Amino acid sequence: MQIINHPSPNYFSGIKAKIQAIVLHGTAGNLQSSLDELTNPKPNNPDSRVSSNYVIGLDGSIYRLVSYWLGQRAWANGVLNYPDRSISWLVECAIKGLNPNNYTISIEHVANSRDMINRNYSAMPAVQLEASKMLVKRLLKDTGLTANHQTIIGHNQIDSISRSNCPGIINIPEYIANI
Ligand SMILES: [Zn+2]
Repeated sequence: MQIINHPSPNYFSGIKAKIQAIVLHGTAGNLQSSLDELTNPKPNNPDSRVSSNYVIGLDGSIYRLVSYWLGQRAWANGVLNYPDRSISWLVECAIKGLNPNNYTISIEHVANSRDMINRNYSAMPAVQLEASKMLVKRLLKDTGLTANHQTIIGHNQIDSISRSNCPGIINIPEYIANI
């Protein structure tokens, strides 16, 4: 599996928290605009900076932006907003006021806003889905996690209000069943 290094300056550093889950996302734009947005230091508006650990293109190419094993955590999930209460580590984050970014690895899948909103589960090309599953399997192995509904989640399970369409293109239960 080839991974293209494409570092982002937008991340927390020195984080020792154990990874609890992999968060799947879909982008609202194409590969280039997504990479630009996720690496933009936004000097005029630093509070609006975002990132992701990985981005997967429609052709299955994998980009690494933030290296979790170096204690870096992506700015990918915003804050908890009516999270899925069946996920115990998320409930713990809510109770203790912990930032879910510190406990997760985020993967963005290039899509478009129409696919996301329509929840067009067939929108992801097979080559992109296969690359995603290969990467997730490797991350599960590296972090000692097993695939289940606590460890592979969608962004909308962290924020069910303003991110209800993320990742619209991925059916999470189906994804977990086929990993
Ligand atoms: Zn998202």
